Amino acid sequence: MRLRHKPWASDFIAEHSQYAISNPEEYKGKWNEVFGNQNPIHIEVGTGKGQFLAGMAQQNPDINYLGIELFDSVIVAAIQKAVDLELPNFKLLNVNANDLTNYFDHNEIERVYLNFSDPWPKVRHAKRRLTYKSFLSLYETILVKGGEIHFKTDNQGLFEYSLISFSEYGLQLKFLSLDLHASNYEGNIMTEYEEKFSGKGQRIYRVEAKYMNEEK
Ligand code: SAM
Repeated sequence: MRLRHKPWASDFIAEHSQYAISNPEEYKGKWNEVFGNQNPIHIEVGTGKGQFLAGMAQQNPDINYLGIELFDSVIVAAIQKAVDLELPNFKLLNVNANDLTNYFDHNEIERVYLNFSDPWPKVRHAKRRLTYKSFLSLYETILVKGGEIHFKTDNQGLFEYSLISFSEYGLQLKFLSLDLHASNYEGNIMTEYEEKFSGKGQRIYRVEAKYMNEEK
C-alpha cells in the first residue's frame, strides 16, 4: 500500500474515539461492553481502508466487527466510513497485530479475517506474514475454541505459503477456492484491494481454516 503522510491523521483518530477505540488495552475481556451486547466479535487484521468490514457490518447487524490497522494514514479512511454509516457494530483499532493479546482475552474473538495481507515475498521476511506460525498462535490465543480464519488474496505465492502454514499448524482447511469470483460462493464482499486486482483480471484465492482445539 502506498502511504501518504497525513499530518492530521492522529487528531482525526482522537476526535472519533466512538469508532476508533483509543485505549484498547482497557477493554481486554470486555469488548461486549464496548458494543453493548453479547454478539460474536469478528476481527479483520490489516483492514486497510475498511470497505470489507463496513460491508460485513451492514450485511450482518448481529455480529460485531473490529478492524485492526497499523497505519494511521490508512485507517482514517475506514474511520470515515464508520462515521458516515453510523453502525453500532463497526469499530476500528489503530494498533499492530503483533500485540493482539494485549487487547483481547482468551475466547473473546470468534473469527479472524485476513484479506490481501502484505505478501512479504523475501524468505527472510517470512515472520512478518500474517499467516506465519507466530501469528497463528496469537489468533489461537484470542479465538474461541474451534474458531476460524477466513483468508483471501490475489497473491499465489502467499496463498501457497499460507496453506502450508495452516496445515503445519494443524488447522483444518475448508471451502478452498482457486478462483473465488468464478466460484459459487455467495455473499462475497469485496475489499479495496480485491476490486483493484480482480478488475485487472487477477484470480482471487480464498480458504477458511479452522482450529481443531474444540473440547470433546
Ligand atoms: N485488507 C485491505 C484490502 O484488502 O483492501 C488492505 C490490504 S493491504 C495490502 C494490507 C494492510 O495490512 C495494510 O493496510 C497494512 O498497513 C496492514 N497491516 C500489515 N501488517 C499489519 C500489522 N502487523 N498490524 C496491523 N495492520 C497491518
